[in-house]
Amino acid sequence: MRCDRLSGVTQLDLTARAPTGALATATVDLAAIGHNTALLGRHTRAGLMAVVKADGFGHGMVGVARAALAAGASWLGVTSSAEALLLRAAGIRAPVLSWLHDVDEDLSALIDEEVDVSVSTPQHLRSVAEAALRLGRPARVHLKVDTGLSRNGAAADDWPELLAWASRAQAAGAVRVHAVWSHLATADLPGHPGVSAQARRFDEAYAAARAAGLAPPLRHLANSAALLAAPATHHDLVRAGIGLYGIEPVPGRTFGLRPAMTLRARVVNVKRVPAGTGVSYGFDHVTSRPTTLALVPLGYADGVPRTASGRAQVWLGGQRRPVVGRIAMDQCVVDAGDTDVRCGDEVVLFGPGDRGEPTAADWARWAGTIPHEILTGVGARVRREVTLGNGEPQ
Ligand SMILES: *Cc1c(COP(=O)(O)O)cnc(C)c1O
Repeated sequence: MRCDRLSGVTQLDLTARAPTGALATATVDLAAIGHNTALLGRHTRAGLMAVVKADGFGHGMVGVARAALAAGASWLGVTSSAEALLLRAAGIRAPVLSWLHDVDEDLSALIDEEVDVSVSTPQHLRSVAEAALRLGRPARVHLKVDTGLSRNGAAADDWPELLAWASRAQAAGAVRVHAVWSHLATADLPGHPGVSAQARRFDEAYAAARAAGLAPPLRHLANSAALLAAPATHHDLVRAGIGLYGIEPVPGRTFGLRPAMTLRARVVNVKRVPAGTGVSYGFDHVTSRPTTLALVPLGYADGVPRTASGRAQVWLGGQRRPVVGRIAMDQCVVDAGDTDVRCGDEVVLFGPGDRGEPTAADWARWAGTIPHEILTGVGARVRREVTLGNGEPQ
């Protein structure tokens, strides 16, 4: 049972270990990304923008982008210039929209690489226009209007001024206004009146753009949840993030999306302990009977949320087992009961759920957060590995 026993050591398959010595692996199934992209595409007549920001929600941006494009996505969406330029550096030439920039950021490289730029303020428009004039080629911009999220986008009162600036910049040959767009606040709350209120303001904002002499060919408003639950919001393009990664975005409804990431590690220590044994910092957990504790080399620095302590479960030895005591920075402890667990045994923290293993959505519930935070939180120490659905690394 102990780690220094030969029986445990013989189970180790050293060839399966990361060459870097990583203690855990996040396996990303690109076939699942393809499946989800195609499934989402069947729910709309609009074009599909695969949102691959934040390193593809932690799945690896370039691999996800390629898989989504191959499965029918026609656009890619990212938050920052750095992400957009990484896509171009990888040789991806599909349309890309980048939507969050410093007010005075030099956007020349984006324009040069034919990345579309979102603009929410006259100051941003000036930065884009100046860079375009320096380069001698117009920038393609998507004007963003705040229809109720109260985050980015021009407020209703500021929209006419932004339109006026955009008309002038377009007349001067500095920009081409390609889209009007906005983001929904409550699409994952089916029936919430916020969606139709935002949709109405969006229509008004688009009409104002037309009245200002602009004829943007595209409108886009919907995220994953709206793609599946609010068809009236689809317009010309839908921006799917979380659904691509296989998380069902509409509470209480299942569309057949397939979680793409599996996070696993291997047991690094095993011990039999008597009843009354305190486990991990602060002894939040004390064993109630003799049991076997298995140490998992993943902690909150790797994205295993500390707030899930006392609730979380993992898949070990063909069953769910509770994580006991506080989740530490680098490690957590699993109560394996009386099962024959050994060093080197595989522990799945989350996966698609097919075998009964927990999912990222389960972890989100245990941690009081959303699956997005679980997926994007998987830390830099975790090795990334890509498969095409057959379990074989590519
Ligand atoms: C992240 C993001 C999306 C994707 O939303 P999901 O709910 O993950 O589908 C779409 N649009 C914008 C502006 C975003 O920031």
